[in-house]
Amino acid sequence: MEVNVLTGTLLETNNYILESNGKVVLIEASANLNSVKELVKDKEFVAILLTHGHWDHYINIEKFAEEFKCPIYLTEQANEKINTKEKAFYADRNPKVDLTPYKLIYIKDQDVLDFGNDLKFKVLATPGHTNCSVCYLACVKDETLLFSGDTIFNNGIGRCDLPTGSPKEMKESIKKILNLPEKTVIFPGHGELTMLQIEINNLQQL
Ligand SMILES: [Zn+2]
Repeated sequence: MEVNVLTGTLLETNNYILESNGKVVLIEASANLNSVKELVKDKEFVAILLTHGHWDHYINIEKFAEEFKCPIYLTEQANEKINTKEKAFYADRNPKVDLTPYKLIYIKDQDVLDFGNDLKFKVLATPGHTNCSVCYLACVKDETLLFSGDTIFNNGIGRCDLPTGSPKEMKESIKKILNLPEKTVIFPGHGELTMLQIEINNLQQL
């Protein structure tokens, strides 16, 4: 699996473009559509995965769904957040996004999403930053990759003070992540990638 990253919005949210034998999965949907198209070219775009319902992660989702005609995977709570201003991240900046014309697939903890080739992911529900936060775990050959959204960053964790955030749930989610192999490579929603073994000391102290 080849991992490419493009950032989107002023918050520089990482969008991961994952390719394996001509198939592509996009994690998050806030990058520039044309930049993604240029990277993907004629490859088959099979899915968009969202880690949670904050606008800096999905602001261009309608454009992607329209262009690539692929299903969108998200939690039911993430869709609710996208549709409900009060629960959103900075409600006044929340864009109006209507996902009803698109194929939505609701995911939950421990679901396995298998798109063929190496594009196989396990969903880990990791509430804390929001009630709808998930991480996507991929095992490719002997490597473990974690797409961690805003749950874990390089040298930090996501805020828990936004609507539906919970420091208590975040602690439990971090515990879950600490059970993964130490060599897990972490691809966060913002900032540089890292490894669990680098973050472990900080995370154990939370
Ligand atoms: Zn967020």
